[in-house]
Amino acid sequence: MQNHTVPSEMRALVWLGPHQMELQTLPTPVPGKHEVLVHVGAVGICGSELSGYLGHNSLRVPPLIMGHEAAGTIVAGAGILADGTPVHAGQRVTFNPLVTCGTCDRCKAGRVNLCRNRKLLSASLPGAFAEYVTVPAALCWHLPEKISFTAGSLAEPLACAVHAVELAQAHSGQNLLVLGAGPIGLCMIAAAKARGVKHIIVSDISDARLEIAKHWGATHTVNAKIADTVAATMAAFPNGVDIAIDAVGTGLVRNQAIKSVMPGGTVVLMGLHEDETAIPTNYIIRQEIRLMGSFCYSREAFATAVDLISRHVVKATPDWLIERPLSDGKMSFEELLAGTSPVTKIVLIP
Ligand SMILES: [Zn+2]
Ligand SMILES: [Zn+2]
Repeated sequence: MQNHTVPSEMRALVWLGPHQMELQTLPTPVPGKHEVLVHVGAVGICGSELSGYLGHNSLRVPPLIMGHEAAGTIVAGAGILADGTPVHAGQRVTFNPLVTCGTCDRCKAGRVNLCRNRKLLSASLPGAFAEYVTVPAALCWHLPEKISFTAGSLAEPLACAVHAVELAQAHSGQNLLVLGAGPIGLCMIAAAKARGVKHIIVSDISDARLEIAKHWGATHTVNAKIADTVAATMAAFPNGVDIAIDAVGTGLVRNQAIKSVMPGGTVVLMGLHEDETAIPTNYIIRQEIRLMGSFCYSREAFATAVDLISRHVVKATPDWLIERPLSDGKMSFEELLAGTSPVTKIVLIP
């Protein structure tokens, strides 16, 4: 980059074990072949990292730099970006943190998110809760000048949502239930609307979150703390919804999703809160419910997410998102876990 000298050391937020996280000074990583060094401009805290922080995720082993929802500036390295253009220093990018091998049967079949050798930045590779991170050039997407790094960091969670509505083949004329109005649930509303879905009911246990969901385009909401989600869904859509997407992942919510779709409807599971939960299998059989998992995103879904961000379809606004310095990382993790955070999304600025 013009005038950007890369220092030999950087500050990084390092997870050391359950409830243990501190800022450390570490050597700045050096990009390998076909990799770039990104000066991180913004990096969001993801729900999956909260369980990692507690030590509940076997894929995350301390000491570890988490952070996989990021955007920044390329300052070193070489290669070809996701859009096929050559890398040049100074480019603003957001990146797909799921590093895939490109050679296994799943990669060759175009199902890259199911790569048998996949590695996620922030789990098996060092992530972006740091001043610098190395990323394969081919996973970097150009970010327009007018889009802030914080908005750019939302491409990753939005891509998860885009992939889920693509798997469900959501289209206009259908009704959708989104269970959970956290960042992924909100992104789900945006992704579904982008595919033409007009009637979207959202459930959550927080009125404040549901109010924000309305701003994003939810046409109906249900507070699952005081009302029965299935009954409220049936009251709004007497035949049941075409598609239910679970962005929570508890046994209770998975069952609500299954019982809310019409016969022949589709349930997409993407919340990972509980590992194994009971589901009404005979009911699923007799109603021919299409039950599917959704994991991360295809290359195409990530491209769509970057496009939606670039067109301001999803915005980083203070009603649901706040920015904090990297040094507030540990406090932010604790607040999100305790439910005392003023907003559902915290983005750290290294
Ligand atoms: Zn994430
Ligand atoms: Zn592969």
